[in-house]
Amino acid sequence: MTKAANLGFPRIGANRELKKATEAYWKGEIDIQALRKVGEVLRARHWRLQKEAGIEIIPSNDFSFYDQMLDMTAMLGVVPPRFEHEGGAVDLDTVFAMARGTDRAEAMEMTKWFDTNYHYIVPEFHADQRFALSSRKAVEEFAEAKALGIHTRPVLIGPVTFLSLGKAKDGGLDPLSLTDRVLPVYEQLIGELRHAGADWIQLDEPVLALDLGPAQGEALATSYESLSNGGAKLLIATYFGGLRDSLAQVAGLPIDGLHVDLVRAPGQLPAVLDALDDGGDRQLSLGVVDGRNVWRTRLSSAIDPIRKAIDRLGADRVQIAPSCSLLHTPVDLDGETGLDAELKSWLAFAKQKLHEVAALADPDANEKMFEASNQAAQSRSASPRIHNLAVSKRTQAVTRSDLERSTPFRIRREKQRAALDLPPFPTTTIGSFPQTGDVRRARAAFKKGRLSPPDYDAFLKAETERAVRIQEELGLDVLVHGEFERNDMVEYFGEQLDGFAFTKNGWVQSYGTRCVKPPIIYGDVARPQPMTVAWSTYAQSLTDKPMKGMLTGPVTILQWSFVRDDQPRSLTCKQIALAIRDEVADLEASGIRLIQIDEPALREGLPLRRADWRAYLDWAVDCFRLASSGVADETQIHTHMCYSEFNDIMPSIAALDADVISIETSRSDMELLDGFAGFDYPNEIGPGIWDIHAPRVPSQNDMRGLLEKASSVIPADRLWVNPDCGLKTRGWAETRASLAHLVGAARDMRGAFASSRR
Ligand code: GLN
Ligand code: ZN
Repeated sequence: MTKAANLGFPRIGANRELKKATEAYWKGEIDIQALRKVGEVLRARHWRLQKEAGIEIIPSNDFSFYDQMLDMTAMLGVVPPRFEHEGGAVDLDTVFAMARGTDRAEAMEMTKWFDTNYHYIVPEFHADQRFALSSRKAVEEFAEAKALGIHTRPVLIGPVTFLSLGKAKDGGLDPLSLTDRVLPVYEQLIGELRHAGADWIQLDEPVLALDLGPAQGEALATSYESLSNGGAKLLIATYFGGLRDSLAQVAGLPIDGLHVDLVRAPGQLPAVLDALDDGGDRQLSLGVVDGRNVWRTRLSSAIDPIRKAIDRLGADRVQIAPSCSLLHTPVDLDGETGLDAELKSWLAFAKQKLHEVAALADPDANEKMFEASNQAAQSRSASPRIHNLAVSKRTQAVTRSDLERSTPFRIRREKQRAALDLPPFPTTTIGSFPQTGDVRRARAAFKKGRLSPPDYDAFLKAETERAVRIQEELGLDVLVHGEFERNDMVEYFGEQLDGFAFTKNGWVQSYGTRCVKPPIIYGDVARPQPMTVAWSTYAQSLTDKPMKGMLTGPVTILQWSFVRDDQPRSLTCKQIALAIRDEVADLEASGIRLIQIDEPALREGLPLRRADWRAYLDWAVDCFRLASSGVADETQIHTHMCYSEFNDIMPSIAALDADVISIETSRSDMELLDGFAGFDYPNEIGPGIWDIHAPRVPSQNDMRGLLEKASSVIPADRLWVNPDCGLKTRGWAETRASLAHLVGAARDMRGAFASSRR
């Protein structure tokens, strides 16, 4: 019989219990025992829930108070010296200190987990790095489940992924050169798990979905050669993509099982079957239920690859599983009382996905589930809520000329200069102003019905007016309305667009205790009416200074949502782009002369393999251009991006053809600008000169220094002056002070600029 398996379950709890308890502990409201108890209760609940769903292979050590990479770092004893850990066990407080920093030690770096919106803590390695088994978390949690009568398969981050995702703190050190040093600790850990009764271990090696270098290939061979002697059976879990050219090597490793992602890479099945059909008894785990999205699986289609695998390998060599850990899906659809029954019947969250996995492992006993799944699939594909004929006609009618401004930048630029009459080094901000306690309280009261719509509107108008007056007093050149009406830059638009749904509790861990609740794009996207025009025109009516319209771009809206899986992402993005295009046109028609379309998520959409970059960048750039190109030459299009490397995608950034781009640069001391300079970026740029992620108020001199640096690599007449990002997380006092310095720095530059031209 095929076995139903799971690779990992979300740990936050259906009501974000873990987040709440952890934050309460950080605030000193509960003690560490109480926090540990919450963890224990959640683990027990989730193990039982998996068992009741019919999962036979249940993971342990997928739980974490913060991050599974950080837990692995702690288990291997890789505590950076600045945390002054004196050897021995790494306790939970040290783990939290590493993640969050202390008064004396800066937090460890955090970065995106592959192409998900989850973020992990980056291990730091030194040339004299030592490893020692320093936490028995995996062993303890295995024993904890065992005591509840649940035999689990512990999950560890595999050594190649662990080292590959780390960062060397000593130049020249290749983390993979530490393989020989780390392996004994892995062996010891696996030995202890074995001793505690574990027979199988799941080793997550998602780096196998990336382009691997020769050092990784070698580390893979060395690692599994030595780990296979530990007496436990090893399953390597790969996910987020196909194995491609790594398949032959991975299939040749002395392992006992392999998990492959057939949702992201269904095409790899024949090659995987060929590789494993060697007369041996190795297990093949088929990831056929999407672990990264919220759609109900069409069981009658998902069964196809399973049948093929059973035909080749025999049922007892096949396991059925989600494509990856369910960490990336919300916990339980049953909690969604606000969604209508039809829409709900199309969805599956983590708990529901487990039932799907169990049904696929035993189809004969689950005919009803297959039937229901078919019905849901039929209702979904035929529903008029999904298909909007006008939208599909319009997307098909898009031509190359819709993606192009009518004249090249150098001509537009002259017209914009004449129309806008801005000084050199024009000053502006990125969009949001402080979302103070007052703003958040008013929004909450409005949502709960305690503040009437007219009162809320009046409140927002007063906030907007105040922000306009402050900007005028400060002497900024291009103003913004402040975004007080927005909770979130994607949700605000999704709520006003057709084809989007919102959950009450569909939270997914983003990092640590931070969770996000992405919208669900289920149908064709259309804009029934203008979304931002009233706020922009209201703000413009208050001032003679130009008001910049403020939109979120199509790629970012797509990237930060759960996206429908019944058509290509590029097509959904194109639909969003058309909706934004209409908004741009309406803003222009209402007298807004500068329009910013934010695309902070453009880079994070990049595929994991280089070979796939081109195709993505092409459609992503086209979508931005579709959204932004329908305006007159005189209308100035801005875009904004933050916290990403641009250098390797510079041609695509230039291809957006925005008249002005603002980017984050102050933290890197303008280093990010080198890419723009080296590429000879043709349009105007506003390199951020104020790091808005810290409360520090930079001095006018600091900011002028950054502008001088910027003007040494970018022609001064193409430079804008602005902060790194929006100001919604800042307070008003530091915002006013910093912006006064920013305007001052721009004026200093203008003086120098004028005299250099004289
Ligand atoms: N306009 C948005 C703001 O200012 C941009 C946010 C972002 O880049 N993440 O808040
Ligand atoms: Zn930003």
